[in-house]
Amino acid sequence: MKKIIIYILVISSLTSYSQSNQNWNGKKCAVVLTYDDAIDQHLDNAIPVLDSLDLKATFYVTAFSQSMQTRLNDWKKLATRHELGNHTLYHPCIGGKGREWVKPEYDMNNYTVKRMVDETRMTNLFLQALDGKTKRTFAFTCGDMKIGDSSFINAMKNDFVAARAVRNQMHKINEIDLLNVDCYMANGETGAQMIEWVKKAVETNSLLVILFHGVGGGNALNVSLQAHREFLQFLKKNEKDIWITPMVDVAEYIKLEQSKTH
Ligand SMILES: [Zn+2]
Repeated sequence: MKKIIIYILVISSLTSYSQSNQNWNGKKCAVVLTYDDAIDQHLDNAIPVLDSLDLKATFYVTAFSQSMQTRLNDWKKLATRHELGNHTLYHPCIGGKGREWVKPEYDMNNYTVKRMVDETRMTNLFLQALDGKTKRTFAFTCGDMKIGDSSFINAMKNDFVAARAVRNQMHKINEIDLLNVDCYMANGETGAQMIEWVKKAVETNSLLVILFHGVGGGNALNVSLQAHREFLQFLKKNEKDIWITPMVDVAEYIKLEQSKTH
């Protein structure tokens, strides 16, 4: 009898261990691939690799970007397979020292919260016209979250499922703040270096969000075509442990899981 009880205890603790170890939709971690700023290289370099591996990503687009203005139909086509996220209408940032490239018209120092909210909601409408969707995620431009002293995302809590920031961290499911989701920004890493991030996410059962800008060029923040391909191939090969899905899916999943424990 004693033996049977011990056996049951061992089995049940093993089961609960494997459950807590695989709480990302049955996998050990989640990886969200995000591409910022809507540049041609996303269409020409990133999409062919993603689609050939059947991986889905999130593209945080600035509605009035050059690429959107000239290749609208390509972005519309992309939206049938991937998530279009909101990265504002004009990509405003807080200007000043070290940010001399910020134009005065799009300097957040010259914005009101109302203007920021209106432009961001306009971008949601634009994206809805492209892909028909109403559930949307947001990415802060330059990681800037405030107009003056005021956080503007609070005014748009009901417009977004999640908002991505730029802090270089990864977290377990219950530690994630959906209006301040952290990410690892890729810039000059090799494939092997980015793969290390994923291994850490697997070990710690975390959400790893990757932020790409240039892929094989197109932005000062850049990764090579080879590094990008190697990294995505590694993800695909290890799909049994890694849930690779757009931000909106991961955010809805987190919301549901957090509501069970809070
Ligand atoms: Zn940006």
